[in-house]
Amino acid sequence: MIAPSLSSGVEQLGDMIANAASIVPFTGAGISTESGIPDFRSPGGLWSRNQPIPFDEFVARQDARDEAWRRRFAMEQTFAKARPGRGHRALASLYKAGKVPAIITQNIDNLHQVSGFAEHDVVELHGNTTYARCIGCGKRHELAWVHDWFQRTGHAPHCTACDEPVKTATVSFGQAMPPDAMRRATELAQHCDLFIAIGSSLVVWPAAGFPMLAKECGAKLVIINNEPTEQDEIADLVIRHDIGDTLGPFVGN
Ligand code: NAD
Repeated sequence: MIAPSLSSGVEQLGDMIANAASIVPFTGAGISTESGIPDFRSPGGLWSRNQPIPFDEFVARQDARDEAWRRRFAMEQTFAKARPGRGHRALASLYKAGKVPAIITQNIDNLHQVSGFAEHDVVELHGNTTYARCIGCGKRHELAWVHDWFQRTGHAPHCTACDEPVKTATVSFGQAMPPDAMRRATELAQHCDLFIAIGSSLVVWPAAGFPMLAKECGAKLVIINNEPTEQDEIADLVIRHDIGDTLGPFVGN
């Protein structure tokens, strides 16, 4: 059912939150647009500017790796100055109140951790862009080190431990999904009684399977997104309004 207005959507959501014992939020890029980070598919979003570099290209070609890091550093100011918005803060309030056991996110911007979620309670399906990892041995590298290498050589770095390429700690198209995060997200979706999908176009799979799974396992499903998604018809409540305006009333003190 689509909420007829923002205020009725907020009211219904408030009732559902009050009646739920275990709420699992699932977030996409739309929750971070208020923080100044563009999403992928909106007009002017990242997709319209750059097609993503698939994992096999990153592995195969030095010029693809150089381009990937050039793009990442071009975004650095945007990521570095982003602060949690009303949506992040509202979810952190519900987490602190004990209503939310953990959050599933497609986002890579680290803003749920900054807003107050413990690191181990942020299930990152697509990784995190605020640090890097070697694609061979998995060693963590900090961005400052990568930046220094890039400035000195003009090229993407290789791991100091095993000489394999170093990539942001994100999951690229064509790269395997992280098994632990997939397992935890599955358990969370199966065992909650309210699942709230926020700011996702729900077209990137397998991530987009989680709202559906939660619904199949008996949870109520709420979708908050300013444009239609393919799962609106199975949702108990669709709020087609701005995320900050919708979740703002749930920000605690
Ligand atoms: P998406 O760009 O496909 O969809 C975002 C949705 O949010 C769109 O439907 C858009 O209309 C909606 N939206 C944007 N701002 C909104 C607002 N203020 N209020 C209500 N709705 C709003 O994003 P996705 O489904 O998360 O898939 C994109 C993939 O790209 C993700 O897997 C993610 O890894 C990556 N990504 C992440 C970030 C980030 O970490 N912040 C940013 C861009 C892309």
